[in-house]
Amino acid sequence: MSRAASRSDELFTRARRVSPGGVHSPVRAFRGVGGTPVFMTGGAGACLRDVDGREYLDFCMAFGPLILGHADPRVRAAAEAALARGWSLGTAEPYSLELAELITARIPWVQSIRFVNSGTEAVMSALRVARGATGRSKILKFEGCYHGHTDSMLLRAGSGLAEAPVPDSAGLAPDVVHETLIAPLDDTAALAAMFERHGRELAAAIIEPLPANYGLLPQRTEFLQTLERLVHAHGALLIFDEVISVFRLGFQGYAGVSAIQPDLVTYGKVIGGGFPVGAYGGRRELMELVAPAGPVYQAGTLSANPLAMCAGLATLQQLEDGRLYERLEALGARLERALSRAPTIALQRVGSIFWLCGSAGGRPATPMRTPQSFPPDAGKRFAALFHPLLERGIYLAPSAFEVGFLSAAHSEEHVDALAAALIELDARASA
Ligand SMILES: *Cc1c(COP(=O)(O)O)cnc(C)c1O
Repeated sequence: MSRAASRSDELFTRARRVSPGGVHSPVRAFRGVGGTPVFMTGGAGACLRDVDGREYLDFCMAFGPLILGHADPRVRAAAEAALARGWSLGTAEPYSLELAELITARIPWVQSIRFVNSGTEAVMSALRVARGATGRSKILKFEGCYHGHTDSMLLRAGSGLAEAPVPDSAGLAPDVVHETLIAPLDDTAALAAMFERHGRELAAAIIEPLPANYGLLPQRTEFLQTLERLVHAHGALLIFDEVISVFRLGFQGYAGVSAIQPDLVTYGKVIGGGFPVGAYGGRRELMELVAPAGPVYQAGTLSANPLAMCAGLATLQQLEDGRLYERLEALGARLERALSRAPTIALQRVGSIFWLCGSAGGRPATPMRTPQSFPPDAGKRFAALFHPLLERGIYLAPSAFEVGFLSAAHSEEHVDALAAALIELDARASA
Protein backbone atom coordinates (compact mmCIF):
# COMPACT_ATOMS: atom_id res chain seq x y z
CA MET A 1 0.00 0.00 0.00
CA SER A 2 1.87 3.05 -1.22
CA ARG A 3 -0.72 5.68 -0.33
CA ALA A 4 0.37 7.81 2.67
CA ALA A 5 -1.67 7.40 5.87
CA SER A 6 -4.79 9.42 5.28
CA ARG A 7 -8.14 10.31 6.81
CA SER A 8 -9.51 7.28 4.94
CA ASP A 9 -7.21 4.92 6.82
CA GLU A 10 -8.30 6.39 10.18
CA LEU A 11 -11.95 6.11 9.23
CA PHE A 12 -11.51 2.53 8.05
CA THR A 13 -9.92 1.56 11.36
CA ARG A 14 -12.95 2.99 13.15
CA ALA A 15 -15.42 1.46 10.69
CA ARG A 16 -14.00 -2.04 11.15
CA ARG A 17 -14.72 -1.77 14.88
CA VAL A 18 -18.42 -1.15 14.33
CA SER A 19 -19.29 -2.90 11.05
CA PRO A 20 -18.27 -6.21 9.45
CA GLY A 21 -15.21 -5.55 7.33
CA GLY A 22 -15.79 -1.82 7.88
CA VAL A 23 -18.38 -1.61 5.09
CA HIS A 24 -22.03 -2.15 4.29
CA SER A 25 -21.54 -4.08 1.04
CA PRO A 26 -18.50 -6.34 0.56
CA VAL A 27 -16.78 -5.06 -2.62
CA ARG A 28 -16.43 -1.60 -1.08
CA ALA A 29 -13.80 -2.96 1.35
CA PHE A 30 -11.15 -3.23 -1.45
CA ARG A 31 -10.46 -6.90 -0.65
CA GLY A 32 -10.40 -7.57 -4.38
CA VAL A 33 -7.55 -5.13 -5.00
CA GLY A 34 -5.78 -4.97 -1.63
CA GLY A 35 -5.15 -1.89 0.48
CA THR A 36 -7.77 0.11 2.32
CA PRO A 37 -10.83 1.80 0.84
CA VAL A 38 -10.91 5.50 0.06
CA PHE A 39 -13.75 7.20 1.95
CA MET A 40 -15.69 9.51 -0.32
CA THR A 41 -17.69 12.50 0.85
CA GLY A 42 -19.57 13.31 -2.33
CA GLY A 43 -19.68 13.46 -6.07
CA ALA A 44 -20.48 15.92 -8.84
CA GLY A 45 -20.76 15.10 -12.53
CA ALA A 46 -18.12 12.50 -13.40
CA CYS A 47 -16.11 13.13 -10.21
CA LEU A 48 -15.94 11.69 -6.72
CA ARG A 49 -14.35 13.63 -3.84
CA ASP A 50 -12.61 11.91 -0.91
CA VAL A 51 -12.31 12.90 2.74
CA ASP A 52 -8.90 14.45 2.06
CA GLY A 53 -10.38 16.68 -0.64
CA ARG A 54 -8.88 14.74 -3.57
CA GLU A 55 -10.95 14.33 -6.69
CA TYR A 56 -11.26 11.21 -8.80
CA LEU A 57 -12.65 10.65 -12.25
CA ASP A 58 -15.29 8.03 -11.46
CA PHE A 59 -16.04 5.06 -13.73
CA CYS A 60 -17.91 3.07 -11.09
CA MET A 61 -20.84 5.49 -10.84
CA ALA A 62 -22.27 3.89 -7.70
CA PHE A 63 -22.24 0.50 -9.52
CA GLY A 64 -24.59 1.65 -12.24
CA PRO A 65 -27.51 3.82 -11.10
CA LEU A 66 -25.93 7.17 -11.99
CA ILE A 67 -26.38 7.20 -15.75
CA LEU A 68 -26.66 11.01 -15.59
CA GLY A 69 -23.60 11.40 -13.36
CA HIS A 70 -23.34 12.44 -9.73
CA ALA A 71 -25.76 15.07 -8.42
CA ASP A 72 -27.45 15.70 -11.76
CA PRO A 73 -29.22 19.08 -11.34
CA ARG A 74 -32.61 17.93 -12.70
CA VAL A 75 -32.69 14.80 -10.55
CA ARG A 76 -31.59 16.87 -7.60
CA ALA A 77 -34.37 19.41 -8.17
CA ALA A 78 -36.98 16.62 -8.36
CA ALA A 79 -35.66 15.01 -5.16
CA GLU A 80 -35.54 18.36 -3.35
CA ALA A 81 -39.11 19.11 -4.32
CA ALA A 82 -40.15 15.68 -3.00
CA LEU A 83 -38.19 16.32 0.19
CA ALA A 84 -39.98 19.62 0.69
CA ARG A 85 -43.39 17.94 0.34
CA GLY A 86 -42.59 15.25 2.95
CA TRP A 87 -40.45 12.26 2.20
CA SER A 88 -42.44 9.27 3.33
CA LEU A 89 -46.19 8.98 3.13
CA GLY A 90 -47.12 5.31 3.53
CA THR A 91 -50.22 5.95 1.45
CA ALA A 92 -51.31 5.81 -2.14
CA GLU A 93 -49.57 8.74 -3.89
CA PRO A 94 -49.27 10.07 -7.46
CA TYR A 95 -45.45 9.83 -7.88
CA SER A 96 -45.16 6.06 -8.32
CA LEU A 97 -48.17 6.23 -10.62
CA GLU A 98 -46.38 8.62 -12.94
CA LEU A 99 -43.28 6.42 -13.04
CA ALA A 100 -45.36 3.24 -13.54
CA GLU A 101 -47.32 4.85 -16.38
CA LEU A 102 -44.15 5.98 -18.13
CA ILE A 103 -42.62 2.50 -17.91
CA THR A 104 -45.73 0.53 -18.90
CA ALA A 105 -46.38 2.90 -21.82
CA ARG A 106 -42.89 2.33 -23.21
CA ILE A 107 -42.18 -1.32 -22.43
CA PRO A 108 -44.89 -3.60 -23.87
CA TRP A 109 -43.97 -6.69 -21.80
CA VAL A 110 -44.31 -4.68 -18.59
CA GLN A 111 -48.07 -4.27 -18.35
CA SER A 112 -48.04 -3.94 -14.58
CA ILE A 113 -45.23 -3.05 -12.16
CA ARG A 114 -44.65 -3.07 -8.39
CA PHE A 115 -41.95 -0.91 -6.77
CA VAL A 116 -39.77 -2.27 -3.98
CA ASN A 117 -36.57 -1.08 -2.29
CA SER A 118 -33.76 -3.06 -3.94
CA GLY A 119 -32.94 -5.35 -6.81
CA THR A 120 -32.65 -8.23 -4.35
CA GLU A 121 -36.20 -7.65 -3.19
CA ALA A 122 -37.41 -7.43 -6.79
CA VAL A 123 -35.88 -10.84 -7.58
CA MET A 124 -37.29 -12.47 -4.41
CA SER A 125 -40.73 -11.20 -5.34
CA ALA A 126 -40.58 -12.18 -9.01
CA LEU A 127 -39.55 -15.72 -8.03
CA ARG A 128 -42.52 -15.88 -5.67
CA VAL A 129 -44.86 -14.77 -8.46
CA ALA A 130 -43.42 -17.44 -10.76
CA ARG A 131 -43.95 -20.14 -8.14
CA GLY A 132 -47.42 -18.84 -7.39
CA ALA A 133 -48.34 -18.79 -11.07
CA THR A 134 -47.02 -22.26 -11.96
CA GLY A 135 -47.49 -24.18 -8.71
CA ARG A 136 -43.92 -25.45 -9.24
CA SER A 137 -40.94 -24.76 -7.01
CA LYS A 138 -37.64 -25.16 -8.90
CA ILE A 139 -35.81 -22.22 -10.43
CA LEU A 140 -33.10 -22.41 -13.08
CA LYS A 141 -30.32 -19.84 -12.88
CA PHE A 142 -27.08 -19.44 -14.80
CA GLU A 143 -23.53 -19.73 -13.64
CA GLY A 144 -21.96 -16.31 -13.24
CA CYS A 145 -25.27 -14.43 -13.10
CA TYR A 146 -25.94 -12.33 -9.99
CA HIS A 147 -29.49 -11.79 -8.82
CA GLY A 148 -28.98 -10.12 -5.45
CA HIS A 149 -28.49 -11.96 -2.18
CA THR A 150 -31.68 -13.89 -1.57
CA ASP A 151 -30.77 -17.44 -0.43
CA SER A 152 -31.92 -19.30 -3.53
CA MET A 153 -29.83 -17.10 -5.84
CA LEU A 154 -26.50 -17.18 -3.96
CA LEU A 155 -25.27 -20.14 -5.88
CA ARG A 156 -23.31 -20.99 -8.95
CA ALA A 157 -21.98 -24.33 -10.07
CA GLY A 158 -18.37 -25.48 -10.19
CA SER A 159 -18.17 -26.09 -13.87
CA GLY A 160 -20.49 -27.48 -16.45
CA LEU A 161 -23.92 -28.70 -15.61
CA ALA A 162 -24.10 -29.07 -11.85
CA GLU A 163 -26.88 -31.11 -10.33
CA ALA A 164 -25.82 -30.27 -6.76
CA PRO A 165 -25.22 -26.55 -6.52
CA VAL A 166 -22.38 -25.26 -4.36
CA PRO A 167 -23.41 -22.34 -2.16
CA ASP A 168 -21.49 -19.07 -2.42
CA SER A 169 -22.40 -18.18 1.16
CA ALA A 170 -22.70 -19.75 4.59
CA GLY A 171 -26.09 -19.58 6.26
CA LEU A 172 -28.26 -20.65 3.35
CA ALA A 173 -31.23 -22.92 4.07
CA PRO A 174 -30.46 -26.29 2.39
CA ASP A 175 -34.08 -26.81 1.37
CA VAL A 176 -34.08 -23.50 -0.45
CA VAL A 177 -30.74 -24.17 -2.12
CA HIS A 178 -32.00 -27.47 -3.50
CA GLU A 179 -34.78 -25.72 -5.34
CA THR A 180 -32.20 -23.96 -7.53
CA LEU A 181 -30.68 -25.59 -10.60
CA ILE A 182 -27.66 -24.08 -12.31
CA ALA A 183 -26.85 -24.11 -16.00
CA PRO A 184 -23.74 -22.80 -17.76
CA LEU A 185 -23.95 -19.73 -19.96
CA ASP A 186 -23.44 -20.01 -23.73
CA ASP A 187 -24.15 -23.75 -23.89
CA THR A 188 -27.40 -24.67 -25.63
CA ALA A 189 -26.71 -28.42 -25.44
CA ALA A 190 -26.36 -28.28 -21.64
CA LEU A 191 -29.50 -26.19 -21.50
CA ALA A 192 -31.48 -28.68 -23.56
CA ALA A 193 -30.26 -31.54 -21.34
CA MET A 194 -31.25 -29.61 -18.23
CA PHE A 195 -34.75 -28.99 -19.55
CA GLU A 196 -35.07 -32.59 -20.71
CA ARG A 197 -34.49 -33.76 -17.18
CA HIS A 198 -36.03 -30.99 -15.04
CA GLY A 199 -38.16 -28.83 -17.35
CA ARG A 200 -41.51 -29.95 -15.90
CA GLU A 201 -40.44 -29.07 -12.34
CA LEU A 202 -39.35 -25.54 -13.20
CA ALA A 203 -41.38 -22.51 -12.16
CA ALA A 204 -38.99 -20.20 -13.99
CA ALA A 205 -35.61 -19.63 -15.52
CA ILE A 206 -33.96 -16.39 -14.45
CA ILE A 207 -31.08 -14.82 -16.34
CA GLU A 208 -29.27 -11.54 -16.70
CA PRO A 209 -29.81 -11.32 -20.48
CA LEU A 210 -26.58 -9.30 -20.50
CA PRO A 211 -24.61 -10.82 -17.61
CA ALA A 212 -22.73 -7.88 -16.06
CA ASN A 213 -21.91 -8.89 -12.51
CA TYR A 214 -19.04 -11.28 -13.16
CA GLY A 215 -17.21 -9.44 -15.85
CA LEU A 216 -19.37 -8.52 -18.82
CA LEU A 217 -20.42 -11.67 -20.66
CA PRO A 218 -22.51 -10.88 -23.73
CA GLN A 219 -24.59 -13.89 -24.76
CA ARG A 220 -25.42 -14.95 -28.30
CA THR A 221 -28.98 -14.01 -29.21
CA GLU A 222 -29.54 -17.65 -30.30
CA PHE A 223 -28.70 -18.79 -26.77
CA LEU A 224 -31.34 -16.49 -25.30
CA GLN A 225 -33.82 -17.55 -27.99
CA THR A 226 -33.20 -21.21 -27.18
CA LEU A 227 -33.76 -20.48 -23.52
CA GLU A 228 -37.03 -18.72 -24.29
CA ARG A 229 -38.22 -21.61 -26.46
CA LEU A 230 -37.31 -24.29 -23.88
CA VAL A 231 -38.84 -22.37 -20.98
CA HIS A 232 -42.15 -21.99 -22.76
CA ALA A 233 -42.17 -25.52 -24.18
CA HIS A 234 -42.02 -26.75 -20.59
CA GLY A 235 -44.68 -24.47 -19.17
CA ALA A 236 -42.28 -22.38 -17.10
CA LEU A 237 -41.75 -18.60 -17.02
CA LEU A 238 -38.84 -16.54 -18.33
CA ILE A 239 -37.55 -13.89 -15.94
CA PHE A 240 -35.11 -11.30 -17.25
CA ASP A 241 -33.15 -9.74 -14.40
CA GLU A 242 -32.45 -6.33 -15.90
CA VAL A 243 -31.57 -4.57 -12.65
CA ILE A 244 -28.29 -3.41 -14.16
CA SER A 245 -29.24 -3.24 -17.86
CA VAL A 246 -32.66 -1.60 -18.05
CA PHE A 247 -32.59 2.09 -19.01
CA ARG A 248 -28.83 1.63 -19.31
CA LEU A 249 -28.59 0.00 -22.74
CA GLY A 250 -31.65 1.66 -24.09
CA PHE A 251 -35.00 2.41 -22.53
CA GLN A 252 -36.20 -1.18 -22.84
CA GLY A 253 -33.02 -2.83 -21.57
CA TYR A 254 -31.62 -5.97 -23.13
CA ALA A 255 -35.07 -7.39 -23.83
CA GLY A 256 -35.48 -4.49 -26.24
CA VAL A 257 -32.04 -5.05 -27.75
CA SER A 258 -32.55 -8.81 -28.25
CA ALA A 259 -36.26 -8.58 -29.15
CA ILE A 260 -37.04 -11.35 -26.67
CA GLN A 261 -40.07 -10.71 -24.48
CA PRO A 262 -39.74 -12.09 -20.96
CA ASP A 263 -42.77 -13.03 -18.83
CA LEU A 264 -41.43 -11.17 -15.80
CA VAL A 265 -38.68 -8.59 -15.33
CA THR A 266 -36.75 -7.29 -12.36
CA TYR A 267 -35.51 -3.72 -12.42
CA GLY A 268 -33.35 -1.51 -10.19
CA LYS A 269 -30.34 0.81 -10.25
CA VAL A 270 -31.07 3.47 -12.93
CA ILE A 271 -34.83 3.26 -12.25
CA GLY A 272 -34.35 5.11 -8.93
CA GLY A 273 -31.88 7.72 -10.17
CA GLY A 274 -29.46 6.71 -7.38
CA PHE A 275 -31.99 6.33 -4.55
CA PRO A 276 -32.74 2.89 -3.04
CA VAL A 277 -35.23 1.19 -5.33
CA GLY A 278 -36.16 -1.93 -7.24
CA ALA A 279 -39.19 -3.06 -9.21
CA TYR A 280 -40.70 -6.17 -10.70
CA GLY A 281 -43.26 -6.38 -13.43
CA GLY A 282 -44.53 -8.29 -16.40
CA ARG A 283 -47.64 -9.66 -18.03
CA ARG A 284 -50.82 -8.40 -16.45
CA GLU A 285 -52.28 -11.78 -15.51
CA LEU A 286 -49.05 -12.68 -13.68
CA MET A 287 -48.82 -9.38 -11.81
CA GLU A 288 -52.52 -9.62 -10.89
CA LEU A 289 -51.47 -12.56 -8.69
CA VAL A 290 -49.74 -10.06 -6.37
CA ALA A 291 -51.48 -8.86 -3.18
CA PRO A 292 -53.89 -7.22 -2.77
CA ALA A 293 -55.09 -8.15 -6.28
CA GLY A 294 -54.13 -11.81 -5.78
CA PRO A 295 -52.76 -14.43 -3.38
CA VAL A 296 -48.97 -13.83 -3.73
CA TYR A 297 -48.02 -11.66 -0.75
CA GLN A 298 -45.43 -8.89 -1.00
CA ALA A 299 -45.27 -5.59 0.90
CA GLY A 300 -42.88 -2.80 1.96
CA THR A 301 -43.01 0.02 4.52
CA LEU A 302 -40.88 2.31 2.38
CA SER A 303 -41.87 0.94 -1.04
CA ALA A 304 -42.44 3.58 -3.74
CA ASN A 305 -40.74 6.16 -1.54
CA PRO A 306 -41.51 9.59 -3.05
CA LEU A 307 -37.85 10.67 -3.20
CA ALA A 308 -36.88 7.57 -5.16
CA MET A 309 -39.95 7.78 -7.40
CA CYS A 310 -39.40 11.45 -8.26
CA ALA A 311 -35.66 11.00 -8.78
CA GLY A 312 -36.36 7.96 -10.95
CA LEU A 313 -38.92 9.82 -13.01
CA ALA A 314 -36.59 12.79 -13.51
CA THR A 315 -33.92 10.34 -14.67
CA LEU A 316 -36.09 8.36 -17.08
CA GLN A 317 -37.53 11.54 -18.59
CA GLN A 318 -34.01 12.44 -19.71
CA LEU A 319 -33.50 9.03 -21.28
CA GLU A 320 -36.82 8.68 -23.03
CA ASP A 321 -35.88 10.27 -26.36
CA GLY A 322 -32.90 7.92 -26.76
CA ARG A 323 -30.38 10.63 -27.61
CA LEU A 324 -28.22 10.02 -24.57
CA TYR A 325 -27.79 6.36 -25.55
CA GLU A 326 -26.31 7.45 -28.88
CA ARG A 327 -23.85 9.73 -27.14
CA LEU A 328 -22.87 7.03 -24.64
CA GLU A 329 -22.38 4.54 -27.47
CA ALA A 330 -20.01 6.99 -29.19
CA LEU A 331 -18.07 7.53 -25.95
CA GLY A 332 -17.83 3.78 -25.39
CA ALA A 333 -16.65 3.20 -28.96
CA ARG A 334 -13.97 5.85 -28.42
CA LEU A 335 -12.69 4.06 -25.32
CA GLU A 336 -12.73 0.77 -27.21
CA ARG A 337 -10.75 2.22 -30.11
CA ALA A 338 -8.17 3.80 -27.81
CA LEU A 339 -7.67 0.56 -25.91
CA SER A 340 -7.32 -1.56 -29.01
CA ARG A 341 -3.62 -0.60 -28.80
CA ALA A 342 -3.17 -2.01 -25.28
CA PRO A 343 -0.94 -5.11 -25.41
CA THR A 344 -2.38 -7.05 -22.45
CA ILE A 345 -5.78 -5.51 -21.70
CA ALA A 346 -8.99 -6.58 -23.40
CA LEU A 347 -12.14 -4.47 -23.27
CA GLN A 348 -15.60 -6.00 -23.54
CA ARG A 349 -18.31 -3.40 -23.94
CA VAL A 350 -22.01 -3.06 -24.64
CA GLY A 351 -23.14 0.56 -24.84
CA SER A 352 -22.03 2.39 -21.70
CA ILE A 353 -21.12 -0.78 -19.76
CA PHE A 354 -17.51 -1.84 -20.11
CA TRP A 355 -15.25 -4.46 -18.59
CA LEU A 356 -11.45 -4.46 -18.56
CA CYS A 357 -9.71 -7.80 -18.42
CA GLY A 358 -5.94 -8.10 -18.37
CA SER A 359 -3.49 -10.97 -18.37
CA ALA A 360 0.30 -11.12 -18.21
CA GLY A 361 0.03 -13.75 -20.93
CA GLY A 362 -1.17 -11.12 -23.41
CA ARG A 363 -4.49 -9.63 -24.38
CA PRO A 364 -7.24 -12.15 -23.58
CA ALA A 365 -9.20 -13.33 -26.62
CA THR A 366 -12.66 -11.79 -26.90
CA PRO A 367 -15.56 -12.25 -26.73
CA MET A 368 -15.54 -14.01 -23.37
CA ARG A 369 -19.01 -15.41 -22.73
CA THR A 370 -18.49 -17.58 -19.64
CA PRO A 371 -16.49 -17.27 -16.42
CA GLN A 372 -14.47 -20.30 -17.56
CA SER A 373 -12.91 -18.18 -20.29
CA PHE A 374 -11.34 -15.70 -17.85
CA PRO A 375 -7.53 -15.76 -17.75
CA PRO A 376 -6.45 -17.18 -14.36
CA ASP A 377 -4.44 -14.05 -13.47
CA ALA A 378 -7.22 -11.55 -14.29
CA GLY A 379 -7.73 -10.64 -10.62
CA LYS A 380 -4.04 -10.13 -9.93
CA ARG A 381 -3.58 -8.12 -13.10
CA PHE A 382 -6.49 -5.83 -12.26
CA ALA A 383 -5.22 -5.24 -8.72
CA ALA A 384 -1.86 -4.17 -10.21
CA LEU A 385 -3.62 -1.58 -12.39
CA PHE A 386 -6.13 -0.37 -9.81
CA HIS A 387 -3.82 1.40 -7.36
CA PRO A 388 -1.71 3.29 -9.92
CA LEU A 389 -4.96 4.45 -11.53
CA LEU A 390 -6.21 5.62 -8.16
CA GLU A 391 -2.97 7.57 -7.65
CA ARG A 392 -3.62 9.23 -11.03
CA GLY A 393 -7.08 10.22 -9.82
CA ILE A 394 -9.09 7.56 -11.66
CA TYR A 395 -11.58 5.45 -9.73
CA LEU A 396 -12.77 2.07 -11.03
CA ALA A 397 -14.95 -0.36 -9.08
CA PRO A 398 -12.48 -2.10 -6.73
CA SER A 399 -12.76 -5.59 -8.22
CA ALA A 400 -11.56 -7.25 -11.42
CA PHE A 401 -15.02 -8.71 -11.96
CA GLU A 402 -17.10 -5.56 -11.64
CA VAL A 403 -17.94 -3.64 -14.79
CA GLY A 404 -17.37 0.07 -15.41
CA PHE A 405 -19.95 2.64 -16.44
CA LEU A 406 -19.98 5.74 -18.59
CA SER A 407 -22.51 8.46 -17.85
CA ALA A 408 -23.91 11.63 -19.36
CA ALA A 409 -21.38 13.50 -17.24
CA HIS A 410 -18.40 11.85 -18.95
CA SER A 411 -16.70 13.71 -21.78
CA GLU A 412 -14.35 12.60 -24.52
CA GLU A 413 -11.49 14.03 -22.44
CA HIS A 414 -12.49 11.82 -19.48
CA VAL A 415 -12.55 8.71 -21.64
CA ASP A 416 -9.22 9.65 -23.24
CA ALA A 417 -7.70 10.14 -19.78
CA LEU A 418 -8.74 6.63 -18.75
CA ALA A 419 -7.44 5.12 -21.98
CA ALA A 420 -4.12 7.01 -21.78
CA ALA A 421 -3.53 5.95 -18.17
CA LEU A 422 -4.35 2.31 -18.96
CA ILE A 423 -2.07 2.25 -21.99
CA GLU A 424 0.79 3.81 -20.10
CA LEU A 425 0.44 1.37 -17.18
CA ASP A 426 -0.01 -1.56 -19.54
CA ALA A 427 3.14 -0.68 -21.50
CA ARG A 428 5.05 -0.40 -18.25
CA ALA A 429 3.72 -3.73 -16.94
CA SER A 430 4.50 -5.60 -20.13
CA ALA A 431 7.96 -4.03 -20.64
C1 LIG B 1 -27.37 -5.03 -8.67
C2 LIG B 1 -28.11 -6.24 -9.13
C3 LIG B 1 -29.01 -6.93 -8.30
C4 LIG B 1 -29.19 -6.59 -6.85
O1 LIG B 1 -29.72 -5.32 -6.64
P1 LIG B 1 -29.56 -4.63 -5.19
O2 LIG B 1 -30.28 -3.34 -5.33
O3 LIG B 1 -28.08 -4.51 -4.96
O4 LIG B 1 -30.20 -5.57 -4.22
C5 LIG B 1 -29.73 -7.97 -8.83
N1 LIG B 1 -29.58 -8.33 -10.12
C6 LIG B 1 -28.73 -7.71 -10.94
C7 LIG B 1 -28.63 -8.13 -12.37
C8 LIG B 1 -27.95 -6.64 -10.48
O5 LIG B 1 -27.09 -6.04 -11.30
